[in-house]
Amino acid sequence: MSERDYSGLIIYIDGEYVPWDDAKVHVFSPVVKYGAAVFEGIRGYWNDDKKKLYLFRLREHMERMELSQRIMRFERIVPAQELMDATVELMRRNKFESSVHIRPTVYVGGDGESYARGPLGSFITAVRRGTPKKVVDGSRAQISSWRRISDSVMPARAKSNANYNNSRYAGLQAQRDGYDSAILLNDRGKVSEGQGMCLFIVRNGVAITPSITSDILESITRDTVIELLQEQGIKVEQREVDRSEFFAASEAFFCGTGAEITPIINVDGDPIGDGKRGPLTERLQNLYFDIAFERIEDTKGWLTEI
Ligand code: PMP
Repeated sequence: MSERDYSGLIIYIDGEYVPWDDAKVHVFSPVVKYGAAVFEGIRGYWNDDKKKLYLFRLREHMERMELSQRIMRFERIVPAQELMDATVELMRRNKFESSVHIRPTVYVGGDGESYARGPLGSFITAVRRGTPKKVVDGSRAQISSWRRISDSVMPARAKSNANYNNSRYAGLQAQRDGYDSAILLNDRGKVSEGQGMCLFIVRNGVAITPSITSDILESITRDTVIELLQEQGIKVEQREVDRSEFFAASEAFFCGTGAEITPIINVDGDPIGDGKRGPLTERLQNLYFDIAFERIEDTKGWLTEI
């Protein structure tokens, strides 16, 4: 079945479970007029041997959405637990037998202007989605001439819908110039992140990632990667990263719910290392997928079994 075939799928909206075509918000609402909403992207991994779906770090995603709502000064906070329960129920109702991408949103409805703080609504969509081939082949990235939004303009730490026009510009530029992806510097000229994904470089066996004050989204996959690397005895540094450090790196990779762990094999036309997926990246990918698909035991409580 095509991933874009949504027929028969159920959506959660404002306390109800409705057919795909029946989930509606009004065109005059602040979410439509100004992008006044926050959201998450969550993956569920289907283990075909066990015939089970495993949601990856559901709680952490919903807790981050609480933070996003606070930063957006919503009139109340739709709690993580409410959205977790609704997500689990949505998975049951959709009876998925494939990997999925889940997208919960809390939005400003009503008829207000851009500063309206409510009334709030929430919805959750879930569609079938597997892992794209670029996870093995790697991505050829461009350093964008568009800068990452700064904390003093539009807090990058909030996963708010309107923020995504920033990576849209960078993505369109990269696409037009023949690259696979974009890397954004922040307003201080330091490396921030990719389009909807964080990044690591490897220098002399040390994994280095821009700090959480580099105008990144505080990525859950980044957190996962840090923990897994440290457990493997690999030193991790979270600090400012200079653009020229890509020339010094033996490996680099993007990480994120959508990107999973994607090798960066080239930046601005110059290969990273030998221009192929590096050994540390490959090892990390294998471990990440073994955990996500529950091929090894979930000792960290990262998975929600459906
Ligand atoms: N940065 C941005 C802007 C993102 O949208 C995402 C995807 N949520 C990430 C980084 C990666 O975050 P996570 O690992 O939590 O998916």
